[in-house]
Amino acid sequence: MGRATVRFYAELNDLVAPERRFRDSEVEFDGSPAVKDLIESLGVPHGEIELLLRNGRSIAFGERLRDGDRIAVYPKFEAFDVATLSAVRATPLREPRFVLDGHLGRLAAYLRMLGLDARWEAQPSDADLARISADEGRILLTRDVGLLKRSQVTHGLFVRATDPEEQLREVVERLQLARAARPFTRCLRCNGVLESVELTTVESELPPKVRERVREVRRCSGCRKLYWAGTHRDRMSLLIERVLGLPRPGRR
Ligand SMILES: [Zn+2]
Repeated sequence: MGRATVRFYAELNDLVAPERRFRDSEVEFDGSPAVKDLIESLGVPHGEIELLLRNGRSIAFGERLRDGDRIAVYPKFEAFDVATLSAVRATPLREPRFVLDGHLGRLAAYLRMLGLDARWEAQPSDADLARISADEGRILLTRDVGLLKRSQVTHGLFVRATDPEEQLREVVERLQLARAARPFTRCLRCNGVLESVELTTVESELPPKVRERVREVRRCSGCRKLYWAGTHRDRMSLLIERVLGLPRPGRR
């Protein structure tokens, strides 16, 4: 029987048993398990992990645990790390892209509302989600920790909140998405990019009252749906202001 000390940092503590949160805790093990397997057995999928330290040195997931090891586990998306990067660059390094599990349809629509590339289908298989995430370089958002344990998944986030607006706030905060947001540039229904169209070319497709009032219309490049500013959009603007404009106090 071997013993090791494990400590989880930042948001990873949401995933482990209360007695292991924000402190050193001891684990016992038989043989020499891979560090990845030990960490996952404590509740943290490898997709959420950026950095593993053994006795202060960075190691790979597959390394074997030894008696007396001290393991420190850091999350992939440390808000302050990303903020440091964005301080020296006007725009984020990469355009963040997402694939969401079948239960997160509202969140997908909210991400699209912010102009973020969010792929979603109602009933995808776990295998498809993992494959799409890996093949297309999309961050997998899910409420299923088991899905993030699949070996294909390298960038995943377990969404803690259950309310869609709270979920949006959580994802925007953890991944520092406020600067990447381009509201009203993407179709809520199909994730297609919206393109400006000449008003005269679409007049016949607009309801009469809208035709008199709007000055700008956009069309989805995917499903061809038309978008214009209206009361629906006013409500969304308020939601966007709440989510992008008001960081919650007391969050780390
Ligand atoms: Zn569309």
